[in-house]
Amino acid sequence: MKNGVQVTGMVLSSMPIGEYDRRISLLTRELGKISVFAKGARKPKGAFVACTQTFAYGEFTVFPGRAYTLIGAEIGNYFEEFRDDFEKMYRGMYFCEVAGFFAQEGLDESERLKLLYATLTALSKGRMDPVLLKAVFDLRMLVIEGEGPEVTSCVGCRKPYSGGDSRFGLHEGGLLCGDCFVEDSIPVHDGTVRALNYICHAELSKLFSFELTEERRAELCDVVRQYFALHVDRKFKSEEMYGL
Ligand SMILES: [Zn+2]
Repeated sequence: MKNGVQVTGMVLSSMPIGEYDRRISLLTRELGKISVFAKGARKPKGAFVACTQTFAYGEFTVFPGRAYTLIGAEIGNYFEEFRDDFEKMYRGMYFCEVAGFFAQEGLDESERLKLLYATLTALSKGRMDPVLLKAVFDLRMLVIEGEGPEVTSCVGCRKPYSGGDSRFGLHEGGLLCGDCFVEDSIPVHDGTVRALNYICHAELSKLFSFELTEERRAELCDVVRQYFALHVDRKFKSEEMYGL
């Protein structure tokens, strides 16, 4: 058997090729996002049938060449529960699609992979309201990208945020104090600012363990949606298809 490279990763998408094969997009810790050819992955009893499904997470052994070829896999989590829950499945597909959009081959994508895995786990266990979960994921993705907003001080005068209601400047990239605010900035309440701060800075293991009132949640989701749209000039397939 050929020697391959072992990587930890998740299948972001899976596409049929020819009669019996598949090509998967794999987000890995070691090699970034790679495209992998899986021979025989659509044969009824093929060895790679299950491990090439979207959401499969574990150890993959790939052989480098003009394109990577899959030669082995040890799956730790298939997120099987998504197959029985259509809403969770398409929400999960959205997270995979966004992670795949940002990820690149040859770069260290370990933070992105960790965020994706933690988000899918939270989704599968119903740990957070799914609309809020999407906002948390989207915002944290921008933080990984180095495009997170300034939420600890005013972007105008640099005065540290000291509590109280404030404004969020989409184009300015963060909070604006009472002296610096511009016309089209969005009013944000203290609870929303604290939640934004938490999402940008919390440890990943605690990222989904906070609560918000319905009003603050709506405000936060709205700010993140507009901020994300400003930075990511594209609509995702899963988002359009299911109206997320
Ligand atoms: Zn200011």
